[in-house]
Amino acid sequence: MNHKKRVLVTGAGGFIGHHLVRALKAENYWVRGVDIKMPEFEASEADEFEMLDLREWNNCWLATRDIDQVYNLAADMGGIGYITAHLATIARNNTLINMHMLEASKLNGISRFLFSSSACVYAQYKQKSADVTPLKEEDAHPADPEPGYGWEKLYAEQMCRYYASDYNFETRIVRFHNVYGQLGTYAGGKEKAPAAISRKVASAKDGDEIEIWGDGKQTRSFMYVDDCVEGLQRLMHSDYREPLNLGTDELVTVDQLVDIVATIAGKRIRKIHLVDKPQGVRGRNSDNSRLREVLGWEPSIPLARGLVPTYLWIESELLKPAHEQKTEAALA
Ligand code: NAD
Repeated sequence: MNHKKRVLVTGAGGFIGHHLVRALKAENYWVRGVDIKMPEFEASEADEFEMLDLREWNNCWLATRDIDQVYNLAADMGGIGYITAHLATIARNNTLINMHMLEASKLNGISRFLFSSSACVYAQYKQKSADVTPLKEEDAHPADPEPGYGWEKLYAEQMCRYYASDYNFETRIVRFHNVYGQLGTYAGGKEKAPAAISRKVASAKDGDEIEIWGDGKQTRSFMYVDDCVEGLQRLMHSDYREPLNLGTDELVTVDQLVDIVATIAGKRIRKIHLVDKPQGVRGRNSDNSRLREVLGWEPSIPLARGLVPTYLWIESELLKPAHEQKTEAALA
């Protein structure tokens, strides 16, 4: 591994980007972080942190100067409630970021560009059963992705492939499946299921009921952020240019997710199911055959293990004085 490389992480003020910056610094890279916001919960370890709106071409040009490798994680995104409510805004913002970042990276002579895509690109008609067949990379076509966010990710993936074939530009494309961990948004509307459930359980008393979106039988797999950050670096160093799943294949229902969190918390929790709330596809799991083949590795941290530090961190945040918390009230 070359430890002298200069790396740009976009979205470095966000959840995965912040963890990635820390991991890259531990590997002795020089790191520039870029975002429209600073990390919320602790200072960035980036050598340079620039506040730039990457929807703007000039800012993408500035962000990519004197850089070897780009991890392009910046995106307007959130949990299922957020991404289903803001289709046009999300698709427009992310298209601008990704198109400008690709072109600026090419013009500035970046050697490798990694694009963070999502399991939301997978065809919805293949995810209608909770007992879903794990999704292989080919299952994104014929296309029927998640409205807005999924279409935009699929389009940006395709653009990475065109840049690779037309310009011989080295692109890497990762499809994340639900990443969770500490130092991620846990309130305010952009949080994902593991963080939202951890917050609700942490705020509940023993024997209380909490609200769950959907009937609780929808299924997903969840990857702990340490596995995610390791997989990202492994993919960057590989020679693989096609889209690749990065997730676990440990399928759980949302009810099971709640039960794991309740066990960690040592609380008896009753569930109220809100079936009118958005719940996304019925079932989604990652087929990791290609991941194992390409990287000789796959995420291995079980959900029940990764949720321990995640839950304990969210619980500790909620114990802070109200003015220091990132709760819905504080963020409203
Ligand atoms: P996040 O929201 O915590 O981080 C994204 C960051 O991008 C935020 O800090 C945000 O401020 C920044 N950003 C948004 N608009 C910007 C702009 N115009 N200019 C500069 N920065 C901007 O999300 P995350 O969970 O860290 O996700 C990182 C990447 O991984 C995203 O591309 C996301 O779509 C993808 N992804 C994440 C998951 C997951 O489970 N977390 C799943 C699938 C895909």
